[in-house]
Amino acid sequence: MEKRIYNFSAGPAVLPEPVLKEAQEQLFTLPGVGMSILEISHRSKKFDEIIANAKKDMADLLGVPDEYAILFLQGGASLQFSMVPMNLMPPVNKADYIVTGTWSQKAVKEAKRVGTVNISATTETENFKRIPAQSELKLDPEAAYVHFTSNNTIFGTQWMSEPEAGNVPLICDASSDIRHKPLDIRKYGLIYAGAQKNIGPSGVVLVIVRKDLLERSQSTLHTMLNYKIQAENDSLYNTPNTFGIYIISLVGKYLKGLGGLEAMYKMNKDKAGLLYDCIDNSGGYFRGHAEKGARSLMNITFNLPSEELEKKLISEATKAGFDGLKGHRSVGGLRASIYNAFPRQGVADLVDFMNTFMKNNG
Ligand SMILES: *Cc1c(COP(=O)(O)O)cnc(C)c1O
Repeated sequence: MEKRIYNFSAGPAVLPEPVLKEAQEQLFTLPGVGMSILEISHRSKKFDEIIANAKKDMADLLGVPDEYAILFLQGGASLQFSMVPMNLMPPVNKADYIVTGTWSQKAVKEAKRVGTVNISATTETENFKRIPAQSELKLDPEAAYVHFTSNNTIFGTQWMSEPEAGNVPLICDASSDIRHKPLDIRKYGLIYAGAQKNIGPSGVVLVIVRKDLLERSQSTLHTMLNYKIQAENDSLYNTPNTFGIYIISLVGKYLKGLGGLEAMYKMNKDKAGLLYDCIDNSGGYFRGHAEKGARSLMNITFNLPSEELEKKLISEATKAGFDGLKGHRSVGGLRASIYNAFPRQGVADLVDFMNTFMKNNG
């Protein structure tokens, strides 16, 4: 088999190797079933078991209380930009959005089609290098909800703790940092996350929603866009992404085996620390985009003294087996995405590589 390289892609992203191997072993026939996961009915007993396990592991890992529903839907996080306001904005038809990057802006764009959007705060004029402080938020106590993006995948910033929204339900796009540390789910009305960063493969979006909020979904909504109906049908109103949910169940089992989210958080702080230390000890050669107090543990964004050197580093790194380091065009430079499944050795090797590059190109 060909050697695997280090995959720093922002998403779809690296998956745990033991999960890939288990899926490979079981792909031809699921044990005891005689058919592949790609061939079985979503109404079969075996699939019932798979989705139940995926949900249970999600609930155990994140400590999801009984008064919340866990859904595995389709259309990515991007469809949630629409489903959230369609289901939750009426009847007051206004909501607060905190804008900390490109994905928050996209969420705002869809919400405006449904009702009035109040931008509670934005750090756009600073190219999203920081997260607003609680004192900067202009929150409307009558808003239907407050929406924020917990980790800004493109800019490499992250909320250290949730914004406080009082009695207004807090809604979070946690696509790029869900399950990187333990959360207090009770602080949230709804959390959504595209699976392809920290949950599993693309094609599934996780939605965790407090059940009382399902009463806001009006019967005039299209069926597939209605949270209440999706919850009543346990994510099986139509054919779900059966393979994606199967891989999610394997990743969940694997994370539990590693010691759950407390253990993940320790590993993530350690891994990100290696790279941030390299940046901070480079005498300004490497410059982090995010302000120190807002640094993401998942996406580490940085620049070099010139665009030319950035290109050179990316090109040499690619040849050396470090893939996906090119930054998003809105920040430039480099971005190392190091989600839960990214190996510590890969970060350590990248740090060595960067230090050598700096010596040779200083
Ligand atoms: C990747 C990402 C998205 C988009 O997810 P899709 O599943 O491709 O729609 C949305 N929000 C954040 C924070 C992301 O990182």
